[in-house]
Amino acid sequence: MAEVAEQGAPIAAAAERPEGREASGTQHRIVVVGGGAGGLELVTWLGNRLGRRGRASVTLVECARTHLWKPLLHSVAAGSLDPWEYEVDYLAQAHWHGFRYRLGEMVGLDRARREVHLAATFDDEGREITPPHSVGYDTLVIAIGSVTNDFGTPGVAEHAVPLEYPEQAQRFNRRLVNACLRAQTQDTPVRPGQLHVAIVGAGATGTELAAELSRTTREVVAFGLDRIDPARDIRIVLIEAGPRILPALPDRIAEATHRILEEMDVEIRTGAGVTEVTASGVRLADGSFVDSELVVWSAGIKTPEVARQLDGLETNRINQLVVESTLQTTRDPAVFAIGDCAACPRPGTSIPVPPRAQAAHQQAAHMVRQIERRLRGQPLEPYTYRDFGSLVSLGKWSTVGSLMGFLLGRSIFIEGMFARIMYRSLRFMHERALSGTVPAVLGVLARALSRRRGPQVKLH
Ligand SMILES: Cc1cc2nc3c(=O)[nH]c(=O)nc-3n(C[C@H](O)[C@H](O)[C@H](O)COP(=O)(O)OP(=O)(O)OC[C@H]3O[C@@H](n4cnc5c(N)ncnc54)[C@H](O)[C@@H]3O)c2cc1C
Repeated sequence: MAEVAEQGAPIAAAAERPEGREASGTQHRIVVVGGGAGGLELVTWLGNRLGRRGRASVTLVECARTHLWKPLLHSVAAGSLDPWEYEVDYLAQAHWHGFRYRLGEMVGLDRARREVHLAATFDDEGREITPPHSVGYDTLVIAIGSVTNDFGTPGVAEHAVPLEYPEQAQRFNRRLVNACLRAQTQDTPVRPGQLHVAIVGAGATGTELAAELSRTTREVVAFGLDRIDPARDIRIVLIEAGPRILPALPDRIAEATHRILEEMDVEIRTGAGVTEVTASGVRLADGSFVDSELVVWSAGIKTPEVARQLDGLETNRINQLVVESTLQTTRDPAVFAIGDCAACPRPGTSIPVPPRAQAAHQQAAHMVRQIERRLRGQPLEPYTYRDFGSLVSLGKWSTVGSLMGFLLGRSIFIEGMFARIMYRSLRFMHERALSGTVPAVLGVLARALSRRRGPQVKLH
């Protein structure tokens, strides 16, 4: 995974060094791979309910050291949020909530021996931190999320930044601030495209990023970068291959968002397939070229490639692990998958459960009950996705979306302050799942107070 390499942890083959029933020879071993929106909530709940009481050993395998809820990444990229304010340290979380944390990237699986293979990890100087080893399980839950799908488009890997991990979001933000500083000090006038940002993919991620960037780029410049004229030099272009933005959301949300983005001077190009990304911009299928030295790729997702190397577990065309409605993988009832990496059926429709934070959250909650049933030897229950609606945050300008009105049986369009509160409540629910209600409320208050003192945008 690119991220691991960036952190100085290249992949190595896993050797046979099983680490198994170290807590107790008889305890049921639950291993969760991936501590993201779904996996970290799951191990926290399991640790509190089973691990602490010695009813099972709960282990999280995760290739990163800290967790940042992914829906915050576009704000990190735009510079309106400092990741350290929201990061959760896996070691501390494990210590406080009764589970064990194993640093490492899953690179394979032995279903007969019930072992997950982990690659070695290395520090920035190339010294080994943890050797290749294996972790034994009785119940395995895979929650490795998703990465950006570039559909093989030339130049994306070299010239575009994806938003999959906090390091990428921070890297993009540094590029943006550096581009502004360079433009301020260079002898020559600002080049066409030098301070343009092209965002490829107008799903929720791309759209929210465009809205945040339209504000933060101007705020960075307002801190004394007087040789840059925002109206002339800065341009945010949102590029979408489909006929409209937000293809997965209802028309009304897309129309309202389109209107607000235009008011914010975001240029929207729909029906525009990208054929190549270069160092100076993006080439479109109609032959035109969008000048832009900063390109973010947020068009489509897929499950990391390792899903195809998991001892024959069934995968679909975007590498998701195919699961039954009980969240068990189709070829091994001891192996479950949740979140973005699971292709989970929805009764009455051929469209699987969407890859969203609310689905990961619901599936984690469902998994806790399933594992308790499994430990008691009871039959498992099916998971049913409940769509509570969709919300799109347009930075400080507005929030638009729809909420599912279960009494009315249809969705209700919402906009403005109420929509913003509902949007923030999603993040609050995640924080509450990880730390409890009182610490989550105190965290919100502490951040609100500390933010009033500094600049509202990251300047370094
Ligand atoms: C910029 C952005 C904005 C978004 N905004 C929204 C939103 O507003 N609303 C919404 O509902 N959804 C949103 N989403 C989608 C949402 O974030 C995902 O659906 C959700 O995070 C999926 O949770 P998950 O637990 O399946 O995976 P993730 O949260 O992606 O976590 C996966 C974890 O697995 C780890 N991992 C990966 N591979 C391995 C491996 N081989 N070994 C060990 N560990 C591994 C990763 O390090 C990561 O910690 C957004 C996504 C992005 C990228």
